[in-house]
Amino acid sequence: MRTLLAGNWKMNGLHASLAEIRALMRSVGQRPAADIIICPPATLIAEAARTVESAPIEIGGQDCHAESSGAFTGEISAEMLRDAGATAVIVGHSERRQYHGETDAIVAAKLAAASRAGLEPILCIGESEAQRDRGEAVPVVRRQLSESTNAKFKPAELTVAYEPVWAIGTGRTPKPEDIVQMHEAVRALLTERFGLEGAQIRILYGGSVKPDNAGEILSLPGVGGVLIGGASLKAADFLSILQSIPSR
Ligand code: PEP
Repeated sequence: MRTLLAGNWKMNGLHASLAEIRALMRSVGQRPAADIIICPPATLIAEAARTVESAPIEIGGQDCHAESSGAFTGEISAEMLRDAGATAVIVGHSERRQYHGETDAIVAAKLAAASRAGLEPILCIGESEAQRDRGEAVPVVRRQLSESTNAKFKPAELTVAYEPVWAIGTGRTPKPEDIVQMHEAVRALLTERFGLEGAQIRILYGGSVKPDNAGEILSLPGVGGVLIGGASLKAADFLSILQSIPSR
């Protein structure tokens, strides 16, 4: 299974920021050590997709609506992302769950929409700090995973990103053994649910991944890649993370 580096630009990036994607393209060459997906804001997807056309870099959305079209002002469907050139989409990011009230049922519907439109869904799950302090991290993540995958989609195309909410954008990361434990718990549930296909699903870690901690995180057993927020905005940081992938 190839390592995946996915970058989430969140609500950052104007037209000029496409220069970072061009810089990344020049540096990664034709055979990077990992699969690469950059998720810029929706306004940049079409041009970013045209920019990377001949490069081993995919473009993804950061969210999608569950319906393919309709009276949902301001929303963007999975089909529209696909039409703009995206090949993947993040669903259930903790900022969507927190600021937009997305429940596991809504996330499940978005996952099904992504699959319907031919996009690779990157499903985010993760506990809050209070849940971890109460010793509930594993059951919370298992419940999110179980309920967010309660819809029709193709498991072979799924990527799961374990992102503890308290580690996102804070500069804090879990202890290595906690990352390993959670990846084992996620893998166990995926295998229970989807059998052999579940054993093949990539599980990423996300939350304050930077050039200086990526090497250690990517060397942990079960970690199939990383979802990177802040450090994905600059080509140089993204490239350092790519270069820190240990040879297995
Ligand atoms: C994210 O947005 O999914 C994320 C992990 O952000 P950061 O790397 O900035 O913590």
